[in-house]
Amino acid sequence: MNVDWISHLLFGLTLSAILLKDRSRGKMALVAAASLLPDLDILWYHRSGLHSPLVLLILALLPAIRNRAFFAPILTGFLSHSALDIFLFDNSNHAIKDLANQVVANESMAQSIEASITNYIAADGIMLFYPFSSEKYSITLSEGNYTIIAGFIAAAAVFTLVWLYFKEYRRR
Ligand SMILES: [Zn+2]
Repeated sequence: MNVDWISHLLFGLTLSAILLKDRSRGKMALVAAASLLPDLDILWYHRSGLHSPLVLLILALLPAIRNRAFFAPILTGFLSHSALDIFLFDNSNHAIKDLANQVVANESMAQSIEASITNYIAADGIMLFYPFSSEKYSITLSEGNYTIIAGFIAAAAVFTLVWLYFKEYRRR
């Protein structure tokens, strides 16, 4: 199972809150868009070269030709996506099914929910060195690790939002 788009959004925004000096609303919107864009390849072949750091670097350079200020936020959004997609979630203990079962309280329905989720977002890492190599690289997380990382991302995102809010508030 790979990481969903909400995690991509949160991770991108969190990372840019740490890394970028200019955190205006416009720049954060750029980061948000860029953190989701690599998954457009779901339209033709998911986890294609569009997830490769080198390809994304070149794509971030193109708008920077017109305006250099675009470069940092777009690159941050792009690379946060790649970084997160390297991680795979080990579902061998059927955590998805258990979770679904808690919601629908129906074993066979939970099973088919799990099957469709794992089919839909079946992932095997990213092409880290594309176009030089099409080999995919990944880091598999056990369920315990995944919870820790998901918790960390959520906590960092909440912290970031609160901090941005107070920064804005003080300016008034
Ligand atoms: Zn992706």
